[in-house]
Amino acid sequence: VRIVMRPTATVREIARVAATIETMGCQAHIAREDKRTTIGAAGSPQQLDRDHLLALPGVQEILDTRMPFKLAGREFHAQPTTVRVGDLSIGGDALAVFAGPCAVESEDQMLATAQAVKSGGAHALRGGAFKPRTSPYSFQGLGREGLQILDRVRRATGLPVASEITHPEDVSAMVETVDILQIGARNMQNYALLQAVGRVQTPVLLKRGMMSTLEELLMSAEYILAQGNSQVILCERGIRTFETYTRNTLDISAVPLLKQLSHLPVIVDPSHGTGRRELVEPIALAAVAAGADGLLIEVHVDPDSALSDGHQSLTPARFEALMERLRPVADVVGRTM
Ligand code: PEP
Ligand code: MN
Repeated sequence: VRIVMRPTATVREIARVAATIETMGCQAHIAREDKRTTIGAAGSPQQLDRDHLLALPGVQEILDTRMPFKLAGREFHAQPTTVRVGDLSIGGDALAVFAGPCAVESEDQMLATAQAVKSGGAHALRGGAFKPRTSPYSFQGLGREGLQILDRVRRATGLPVASEITHPEDVSAMVETVDILQIGARNMQNYALLQAVGRVQTPVLLKRGMMSTLEELLMSAEYILAQGNSQVILCERGIRTFETYTRNTLDISAVPLLKQLSHLPVIVDPSHGTGRRELVEPIALAAVAAGADGLLIEVHVDPDSALSDGHQSLTPARFEALMERLRPVADVVGRTM
């Protein structure tokens, strides 16, 4: 276990933490690297009272050297990863906003939405061709035909496209027709699928399972990274709680936590995270304020006639207004749009 001190920590604060570690039955080893001091705690780290240590002045964080996600974790990869899709970077200074309908419904719908979100300031298009639905009687997506539509729409608009993959056997068709492979919440622990997308170099947008811990999310990212695909974006999309006013409970603390634990970019999906159109904007603003690298937002040209998730989809006008409200928030946290 290593205690990372803030760059501003004083000699006194460092000495106090070291002494506290010793009174907790471990040996303290002070190391100065770059501009910050870390204090290793050797011996029996289970004896450490972490909450007490975290509360001491000058302490920034406690790094567990037994972090099980070796490739996704910050421990051996301090620099943030930037995922690149053509001209778009995700994880750099600029926010990356993905917008589009829940599902690809027709070429007209997709093209109209793509043009609308592009003029509203979106950097990438989203839209599912394969829709994992709770009910087998609900619209399941256009499948391969949907992929062809996405391919034509990305060519027509120049927007990179993210779309969900649900079967390993679709990898080869999807890498030809879309730019980012989305792994949905329901498939976050579909390990064969994770390994399959890990074997290609196409960026992967990995959504948190609705009942998954952050450690499980990072272990799923690890499955992809371990196969050789380093281009992984993490997505907080809400988890299931006892609350029923919202579809899910968006875990805003997941954003700074994931950024601390991992070097991978983190984006937020306020559409599935809340399930309510009127909550999308406030939660999008909160996500950017919390340090998110981007957003995934459902937008439909005619939400009331959408074949899925219309109730949480924004109209293009509302999306454009959201992008404008986002600007000052991005500015405050040092991000460009
Ligand atoms: C989606 O993005 O449309 C979707 C199905 O999301 P999730 O997997 O997070 O439920
Ligand atoms: Mn949806």
